[in-house]
Amino acid sequence: MKIYNTLTRKKEEFVPLEPGKVNIYLCGPTAYNYFHIGNARTFLFFDIVRNYFKYRGFQVTYVQNITDVDDKLIDQSIKEKIPVSDIAEKYINAFFEDTNSLGIPKADYYPHATKYIEEMVRLIKELEEKGYAYEVNGDVYFSINADKKYGILSGKKIEDLKAGARVEKNIQKKHPGDFTLWKRSKPGEPKWQSPWGEGRPGWHTECVVMSRKLLGETFDIHGGGIDLIFPHHENEIAQAQASTGSIHARYWMHGGYLNISGEKMSKSLDNFFLTRDVLKKYDAEAIRFFFLSKHYRSSIDYNEDLIKESSQAMKNLYSILKELDYLKYEDEDISYAETHQKLKDQFIEAMDDDFNTAKAISVLFEIAKITRSSNDMNFAHLLVELGQVLGFFTNLEEKLETDLNQISEELIQLLINYRQLFKKEQNWRMADKIRNDLKSLGIQLKDTPAGTEWEIVK
Ligand SMILES: [Zn+2]
Repeated sequence: MKIYNTLTRKKEEFVPLEPGKVNIYLCGPTAYNYFHIGNARTFLFFDIVRNYFKYRGFQVTYVQNITDVDDKLIDQSIKEKIPVSDIAEKYINAFFEDTNSLGIPKADYYPHATKYIEEMVRLIKELEEKGYAYEVNGDVYFSINADKKYGILSGKKIEDLKAGARVEKNIQKKHPGDFTLWKRSKPGEPKWQSPWGEGRPGWHTECVVMSRKLLGETFDIHGGGIDLIFPHHENEIAQAQASTGSIHARYWMHGGYLNISGEKMSKSLDNFFLTRDVLKKYDAEAIRFFFLSKHYRSSIDYNEDLIKESSQAMKNLYSILKELDYLKYEDEDISYAETHQKLKDQFIEAMDDDFNTAKAISVLFEIAKITRSSNDMNFAHLLVELGQVLGFFTNLEEKLETDLNQISEELIQLLINYRQLFKKEQNWRMADKIRNDLKSLGIQLKDTPAGTEWEIVK
């Protein structure tokens, strides 16, 4: 299996630290707002990474952290006039609601930053003692000049970091690129005790400590959106190297941007769509399909026409299963012949090549085509088996049956509309006939000022 490693800038053969096991850490949400559909792309993709490793027989430990203390939460708490802890609770709940609506199963661990403060203080103290960190007025900074390898992930050079756009200006710092490890708290802000006074940890420190604590000092895969390469992941690596002498994760994977009219979708640019709003308009599987039909490292444009097309594509796949009455044969024994195996191999080959989901989806459609023309249940089984690796068909029963219910409801509404037309034309005989025929099926119509309602009275 090959994975593109941002650290080495090439596709590498994936060799797990421990045979048969893979540990994955994904930088999770900062709980200060509902997450946007660009974040959803990252969360959905790493769900597939986890899923695929499982499919290939690996034992996976998947960690996604939650940042529940940060400047952004403090700003939001002032805006909403509720305590920081309430902001965290509100948006952590929303995060779980939205990931659940997206059809993303739970991670194994969701460490909250505020539960690891003691370990963070210990790490910062260690960095200070080793000469990598310095304190000024209760704030502690990491000195990038002390780190010979700084820039190893992003390729940035220390001399280019002179108060660049993404480096905050601060007269306390020895170098403008030095980053905050501990921040002194202002009155009323969340605070914890430390050797440097009351304050809170910096974001980059949180992830080093939590990944280490749950996955060990060295683990397999660290993931996130491409915007986390610098400064977040670079600064995580700096601390890990300063502490242990080695980089904590061996493979660094980054998902591409979701653009909107060519510009990166982000909260700071205020050009985003919230995942929960998009989910009101489109099915979760259509959104998943839209993202997975492009390579995860490519930038893509948010495009509702393409989401609609994705929705239609999913409907087509479901209609094939429906026509074959798949649920009836769901538990049948599967016997894959050579032709089935060949397609399965193509799917695996695509996914083994740095998770080429776009190619994997094209294999699904090849299988769908053959399923339709051959009516071979084993192809249908293969379609479902491989589709589920990409997170499709996970609620097959409900999906195949709900759709039928929905059609029934639409048919009843259609008859009600016809009855309305007959009434308008004063064709009482036909209007009554529709009412009575529906009644004999156990469907009772009731005329109200707001229109005709119906209920099942069997
Ligand atoms: Zn992180």
